[in-house]
Amino acid sequence: MSTNKKKSTPNKSLRTVDKLARLGLSTDLALALHLPMRYEDETTLTPLSEAVRMQGHTVQLEAVVSACDVQYRPRRQLVVTVEDQGVELTLRFLNFYGSQAVQMAEGKRLRIRGEMRYGFFGSEMVHPVVKTVQEGDVLPQALTPVYPAGEGLSQTLLRKAITSALTRFDFSDTLPDALRTTLQLIPFEQAIRLLHNPPADCDEYALMERTHPAWTRVKFDELLAQQLSMKRAQVARRQQGAPSLGMEGSLCRAFNAALPFALTGAQQRVLTEIRRDITASYPMQRLLQGDVGSGKTIVAALAAVQAIDNGYQAVLMAPTEILAEQHFRKIAALIEPFGVQVVWLTGSLKKREKEAARELIESGTAQLVIGTHALIQEDVLFARLGLVIVDEQHRFGVAQRLTLRNKGVDQIPHQLMMSATPIPRTLAMTYYADLEVSVIDELPPGRTPIMTRLIDQDRRDEVIERVHAAALEGKQIYWVCPLIEESEALQLQTATDTYVTLTAALPDLRIGLVHGRLKTAEKQQVMDAFASGELHLLVATTVIEVGVDVPNASLMVIEHAERFGLSQLHQLRGRVGRGSAASVCLLLYQAPLGMIAKQRLAIMRETTDGFEIARRDLEIRGPGEFLGARQSGQAMLRFANLETDQWLVEKARDLAADLLLHQKDIAEAHLARWLGSREDFLRV
Ligand code: ADP
Ligand code: MG
Repeated sequence: MSTNKKKSTPNKSLRTVDKLARLGLSTDLALALHLPMRYEDETTLTPLSEAVRMQGHTVQLEAVVSACDVQYRPRRQLVVTVEDQGVELTLRFLNFYGSQAVQMAEGKRLRIRGEMRYGFFGSEMVHPVVKTVQEGDVLPQALTPVYPAGEGLSQTLLRKAITSALTRFDFSDTLPDALRTTLQLIPFEQAIRLLHNPPADCDEYALMERTHPAWTRVKFDELLAQQLSMKRAQVARRQQGAPSLGMEGSLCRAFNAALPFALTGAQQRVLTEIRRDITASYPMQRLLQGDVGSGKTIVAALAAVQAIDNGYQAVLMAPTEILAEQHFRKIAALIEPFGVQVVWLTGSLKKREKEAARELIESGTAQLVIGTHALIQEDVLFARLGLVIVDEQHRFGVAQRLTLRNKGVDQIPHQLMMSATPIPRTLAMTYYADLEVSVIDELPPGRTPIMTRLIDQDRRDEVIERVHAAALEGKQIYWVCPLIEESEALQLQTATDTYVTLTAALPDLRIGLVHGRLKTAEKQQVMDAFASGELHLLVATTVIEVGVDVPNASLMVIEHAERFGLSQLHQLRGRVGRGSAASVCLLLYQAPLGMIAKQRLAIMRETTDGFEIARRDLEIRGPGEFLGARQSGQAMLRFANLETDQWLVEKARDLAADLLLHQKDIAEAHLARWLGSREDFLRV
């Protein structure tokens, strides 16, 4: 007996185990839940005489090889002619091995699966899957599952591993029968077995569309686990201590009286929601959503003032220096007159300035702190942090937001996140764990809607003339340079070039340039010059995408709009339409446009409603992409689809609440199965 041979077996299977592990398939549970992406129907044969009329369809048939040749024109290929009852079919293989020619030698009977096409020489299939038929071969009885596979993991191997896992797996249902029946769900075991091994007479369409009751059960279980996990986090949050900031003192009153405008009804409403939250002695976790220009900043400032009134510090973090600077300027101007100490901290401050800011923060002298990512550095310590505000929260990672929240000393500060990127309700409910949502669904009075035009990039000269005319009428204009994803340097270059050409073309206009590489002071200088009306035209990269607020700007040109995502275009466009003048946004595009680009730009032209844009974006792209890499991380849900399964989300949410109240053991068992090794469904 050869010991070598014996050794090689475990080695080989170890490699398989490793490969499976790389897909996260190390347990029977994981394998059982590794469900097929699709199925192939190999249970029936179509007679060739019928198959030749099924152009464009994938069919399986059997036929005998009548000729097998290597041809050299128009390029080297293996051409096999097969025949069944006098009907012929040509099989073409452009890349092939010598062994295939042997497998398909004249006289062999083949089982062939592929897409029917009409070629120059009649019916043909290109690269069909071919198997030699042996005496006594029977057709499979079930649809053949096709699994998501990884490198070096064949379907055969996966099927074997899964089949074996299914013999060992403990299928006990996490939902008691009575409950399951009320929910009109099929048993878990039945669902899983069916999905791996659907009988031939199963509704194939429902399987593919994932509307089959077996899919419904799996999706429901997944969503239930997610909702349970969210609710549990919510309970945990309520057990944490936070400062109660309920008092509206003299500072609040003075600030309210000095507001330059009356709050809209929607602002008033969300402010009430926030005030209720920060009065509680557990930490608020609220997302303030409001379309671009709806006036979120002032609401945040009012909340900050209340925190200060209660003797706590508030911090406001923004994703860009330009935005942080603008907040600092505007908010400081409003509240410094009342003796509030506002401190500003960004990465570009000089070392000494930073140190000074840090000292003010640590000693508690700084009552309101405004800045960028620099705020989350380890050496920034707060004396009495009561409220954390994150503007344009979707620009930050989860870890960054958490770091800032953890800067409270012995209490967790309240947290207010703001975003103009609207998150549809289902997404908010599922992706954003344990989050209350407030919506400002009304714009301040006196705004006129922005008109959007699509213009071929070829007509850039006309656009320049239009810019000229607008400037002479006293309007201010943004000119946004194209996004160049591959290279920031290239993007800068383009912006600089555009600045040079526009300056040459429009010698009588005062033109500024702003981009991410400018020093902070230079950026501020340009932004100030634009804000004060000194500049007619501001050439910019996407640094102005978020938050910038210059109400007199009423014309925006965006070059190569087809390169931007919808939410980004919406954000950019939101820089205009902030004053009472009618605003125009010109989207320049490079023809020809692809299908999706066309749809996107059409949406931009048709609506200025951010929620509508987000909804349609979701339709085109699906939620994963919609959220963007920063937010979605890995896809949280593997089976459920938030667009089509909304009814299930709601059902799962209701049950989760009920289970946690009345049947904790069921909740625990269900979570144990579904959370498994995955840490959590949470995105806080
Ligand atoms: P966003 O929600 O996009 O952050 P901002 O907070 O920057 O919007 O507000 C946009 C503009 O609207 C600012 O110039 C702000 O001063 C103004 N604004 C906010 N609320 C009101 C209001 N209730 N009435 C009039 N103008 C308002
Ligand atoms: Mg804003």
